[in-house]
Amino acid sequence: MLLKGKRALIMGVANKRSIAWGIAEAFHREGAELAFTYQSERLKENLDELLDTIGGRNRFPTYPGDVTVDDQLDAIFGDLKDRWGGLDALAHCIAFADRDDLARPLNEVSRDGYALTLNVSAYSLLAITRRAASLMTGGGSIFTLTYNAVERVVPGYNIMAIAKAALEAEVRYLASELGVGGVRVNAISAGPLKTLAGSAVKGISKLRDVTAEMAPLRRNITIEDVGDVAVFLASDLSRAVTGNTIFVDSGFHVMGMASMPTAT
Ligand code: NAD
Repeated sequence: MLLKGKRALIMGVANKRSIAWGIAEAFHREGAELAFTYQSERLKENLDELLDTIGGRNRFPTYPGDVTVDDQLDAIFGDLKDRWGGLDALAHCIAFADRDDLARPLNEVSRDGYALTLNVSAYSLLAITRRAASLMTGGGSIFTLTYNAVERVVPGYNIMAIAKAALEAEVRYLASELGVGGVRVNAISAGPLKTLAGSAVKGISKLRDVTAEMAPLRRNITIEDVGDVAVFLASDLSRAVTGNTIFVDSGFHVMGMASMPTAT
């Protein structure tokens, strides 16, 4: 029960394959009190069905939370303040790029496509952290999900790599700004997973094949692997860890460029 007494908001459950769901199950197992956001009414149905598997949809507050809509974000944190009086942990598991933009070479991405990708996938962490940190009066833990296409080129990741570069820089700056109040900000860099978002990346199957063949641990990761590291980040065990990116990728990031597949 590493998270007993912790109040956590989980953003980004789309279905049972979502990384956010792996985190939710692990947090539930460790005794956290949970609330959730969903992007759209269609996804709320999926979320409700999943919540029924961990004790019932009525046990958990759920909120509409399109991260491009400030009023929705205000409502989420306003209600959590009334309901819980504070917040201890926040999981930001959100990213989006238009499929066409993701498939395009970076130099062909439109201004609008760039703005949308960065708005949803990177600015959202700032918008959410601002609101969440104001509830973390006794300190807290905020973390996001990234992918190691930032420091090296991963064919097919294109515009999302730029969003993740911004996101990772945000993690460091936010950690520096909020540390004085005991709020920690970190990232988990996950290996390739065939989620809704992951499947939009051309070449993800190859990336998984190469991970299984060449990663030090010779296997792909699971959402449970991410969930357990998220428990560490939300718990007091990581009380001196902030501004970090923790790799949950079977060690693939230590391999050289020769291990990269092409996207086609
Ligand atoms: P997913 O599709 O299950 O989750 C993505 C979530 O983002 C969905 O719940 C979706 O509703 C949400 N979202 C998109 N636009 C939104 C908006 N405007 N407002 C609110 N929510 C919005 O896929 P996932 O792989 O679980 O993705 C979670 C995070 O993990 C993402 O940041 C992703 O980039 C990151 N990640 C994924 C992989 C992978 O291979 N799948 C690897 C590393 C990092």
